[in-house]
Amino acid sequence: MALDLLLRQGRRAEDKETLVDIAILDGRIVEIAERITAEAPAEDLDGRLVIAGFVESHIHLDKSRILERCESERGTLEEAIASVASAKRSFTEADIYARGRHTLEQAIIHGTTSMRTHVEIDPRVGLKGFNAVLRLKRDYAWAIDLQVCAFPQEGLTNDPGAEELLVQACEQGADVIGGCPYTDTDPHQQIARIFDIARRFDIDIDFHLDFDLNPTWMHLDEVCRQTDAYRWGGRVTVGHVTKLSAIDNSRLAAIGRRLAECGIAVTVLPATDLFLMGRDRELLVPRGLARAHRLLAAGVTCSLATNNVLNPFTPFGDCSLIRMANLYANIAQIGRERDLRACFDMITSLPARLMNAADYGIAVGHPADLVVLESRDPASAVAELAHPLFALKRGRRSFTRTAATLHRP
Ligand SMILES: [Zn+2]
Repeated sequence: MALDLLLRQGRRAEDKETLVDIAILDGRIVEIAERITAEAPAEDLDGRLVIAGFVESHIHLDKSRILERCESERGTLEEAIASVASAKRSFTEADIYARGRHTLEQAIIHGTTSMRTHVEIDPRVGLKGFNAVLRLKRDYAWAIDLQVCAFPQEGLTNDPGAEELLVQACEQGADVIGGCPYTDTDPHQQIARIFDIARRFDIDIDFHLDFDLNPTWMHLDEVCRQTDAYRWGGRVTVGHVTKLSAIDNSRLAAIGRRLAECGIAVTVLPATDLFLMGRDRELLVPRGLARAHRLLAAGVTCSLATNNVLNPFTPFGDCSLIRMANLYANIAQIGRERDLRACFDMITSLPARLMNAADYGIAVGHPADLVVLESRDPASAVAELAHPLFALKRGRRSFTRTAATLHRP
């Protein structure tokens, strides 16, 4: 058998006891077996973990890296939205492209092979962000599959012209439509409009939702109702839902069962949620994070994602998803192996399911999208923040990171 590349003795997350060889031809995986005999360039993985890549289900490329342009004193959500709204007026397409490229390249070298980026659409910024991100999608297809989610950060029904622009973005190739009911003067009407547009263009939905700590009411109820009414189960995601951090485990389990029945996925954004929530408290500041691993146990598809990088929503970020999983494990007080393993799944197979990504996973016939980690087990990879060493995207090497060398005396 003639091959382009043979990866020898790798360990897959789903079967860490068995070492396998993976044969690659024309950008695809053509064989997986304990020992493959073939004439081909080979790379010995020496028992290291090989995965189909990290999957970033929620990031904002268009507003990343603007920290120095924004005033941030209080560190609240309202301040972050207002300060980015003001900075956004001077965005140009070239500026958004350059910042987005920097962030995207950071994600690639941290082992991310698929990503959903939200992009703001409104009469102030128009389609500048959308156009810049569409170019990034095309220019970086050699390293990463990018889904573009168009959404109105500053409201829809209260912002004349926003809906027309959103529809234009859908006509011009938005993969997903997003919403942000908490900034709308008529949240339920926004939810209804978003479902309507999604049905018209046959695309999935990804809401920013219930982003505060008051559990006495939730927009989640309306999203569940509309998901059922539109029969859109399996195609709806809600991000943040920090209200779920303010309820007890029995109510959380009941909501989890409802979300699982409706087919609504949940994305938790640990860095942003931790940074913005509980700003009214001086002592015993709440963590403000939905317990994704508990929702997972109720059958909900859950993911952990980066959200913002170097802006007033999150003034940090290296785009490492393994770091995000580790951060979540810290905040959620996770230590058991099976829960750490769940954290690993929430940055790999589960966000792939959430994004309805085709052909994700290490299997014969799938694209050779493969990332090798300096680790031998998924739970340890999360606990020890395992470094990604190199990646292949459709069989072609997309980055290499050299291991550190210790210079003994
Ligand atoms: Zn977001």
